[in-house]
Amino acid sequence: MTSELRSRSVFSSLAPSDGHELAEFAVMDANRVAQVVRRSQEVAAWWAERSWAERERTLLRWASWLMRHSDELVDLLMVEQGKSRDTAFLELVPTLEHIRWAAKHAKRVLGSRRMWAGAVMSNHTAEVEYRPYGVVGVIGPWNYPVFTPVGQMAAYALAAGNTVVLKPSEYTPRIGEFVVDAFAKANPDLPGGILSLVTGFGETGAALCRSGVDKIAFTGSTATGKRVLAACADNLVPTVLECGGKDAMIVAADADVKAAAKAAAWGGMTNAGQTCVGIEQVYVVAELADRFLDELRSRLESVTAGDDAQSAYGPMTTPEQVDIVTRHIDDALTKGATAVVGGRESVRAPYIDPVVLVDPADDSLAVTEETFGPVLVVRTVSDVDEAIELINGRKFGLGASVFSARDGRRIAGRVRAGMVAVNCALAFVGIPALPFGGVGDSGFGRVHGADGLREFAVAKSYARQRFDTPGIDTVALRPTRLTMAAVRQMMRFRHERRMR
Ligand code: NDP
Repeated sequence: MTSELRSRSVFSSLAPSDGHELAEFAVMDANRVAQVVRRSQEVAAWWAERSWAERERTLLRWASWLMRHSDELVDLLMVEQGKSRDTAFLELVPTLEHIRWAAKHAKRVLGSRRMWAGAVMSNHTAEVEYRPYGVVGVIGPWNYPVFTPVGQMAAYALAAGNTVVLKPSEYTPRIGEFVVDAFAKANPDLPGGILSLVTGFGETGAALCRSGVDKIAFTGSTATGKRVLAACADNLVPTVLECGGKDAMIVAADADVKAAAKAAAWGGMTNAGQTCVGIEQVYVVAELADRFLDELRSRLESVTAGDDAQSAYGPMTTPEQVDIVTRHIDDALTKGATAVVGGRESVRAPYIDPVVLVDPADDSLAVTEETFGPVLVVRTVSDVDEAIELINGRKFGLGASVFSARDGRRIAGRVRAGMVAVNCALAFVGIPALPFGGVGDSGFGRVHGADGLREFAVAKSYARQRFDTPGIDTVALRPTRLTMAAVRQMMRFRHERRMR
């Protein structure tokens, strides 16, 4: 956002295609954020006390409202984020599926559960339940401004019984406002404050971290994630950080080359490459490299970015992103990479046509940093072992994919990443039961599935004594000899036997 577009109290949402102003939003300072969070705190206990069924109905009504108004939301995604019509609708698919999954599984995953207290404590009952934190602050990015804050974060946080305050990216505030309003419109009888909005720049996000929220769920770049973590450290606010990635694809010697090239083309270019789990680099074994590159070239050569129906994807969402991608292309070409599809001329801001760079130097920005654009780096390796060594040496560890007819799952197990797709790309995103999250610079914590629900809840344990054990009292300040003899005997019986 350029400085002249910032003012003290409002900012503009701009269309990425031509920069025209869409709407104005308040730049909320720490006081305004605190007010919104206070309202959210006031209603948090009420929301936490609703039954599982009531929360399920509330979330399903939200999903239903979003589906019934999907045309409006798709239009908004196109104009404010720059997606094509189909890609915009496809963002709603996992969003709605995850809302539904979180709503329907919260009771099973988080509800009270009895367990065996163990031989030593067998005169007790043991129970665990998962209680909501209270208020969860969700800080979202601009690349999937519906799926990420709603389908990945808010749906799971709300299903677990938390209230949520959402801070959308400064580039997509209208979309943030739409989904928050949708929740209220779908549930007109609920009190306000269960899902609320705060708007502004990074400072507003930082204020949210310090506002007294009980947890922060952040999605964005690794650099901002570190700032969020530092801000949360002041009040020991727990965080889940979903940060950037540099997802790799491995094409093994027994891979279906056509399927791998198709997956790389789609996984690398969809949403103009602005996908956290988009494929940014491909490691292909030498014997398949020519065939793979031919396939990739034939799939991407005629692909263009633009706003018309013939274009495969739209503009880059932010001018800064155009600069980053251009820098990565220039740097790789200067350091010896070959462009087999597109090149520097592919940059026609705000659009960038597909670029495929082969064998760039290891220290190229396109190899070491997240590019977040329609650029695929292809590197030839002698075998899968070399690919794994290179991938596992990098700082990011979000997703990955492996193409191999016989060995895919075994290779996938060796890749340092939170999620791996085998003989497909990004499939883990659309399977609600599968946990989602990264390692290393890609962040920590998990969203989606049972782990995602537990991410937004605190385990609370209950131990209840059912009866006294006659003659044996281990909680006496001076246990009797009989008690200690019985305890020793039991420990000998359970642990003394030597293991072979
Ligand atoms: P940013 O890190 O720039 O921003 C993310 C959010 O943080 C925005 O709402 C931003 O507000 C806010 N923010 C900025 N500074 C601060 C601060 N100091 N304290 C608190 N909040 C702050 O990311 P982008 O929006 O550019 O999103 C792209 C990134 O997100 C990529 O790296 C991508 O890989 C990652 N991502 C990761 C996903 C995952 O699940 N792992 C999914 C989707 C994206 P503002 O925009 O107003 O500055």
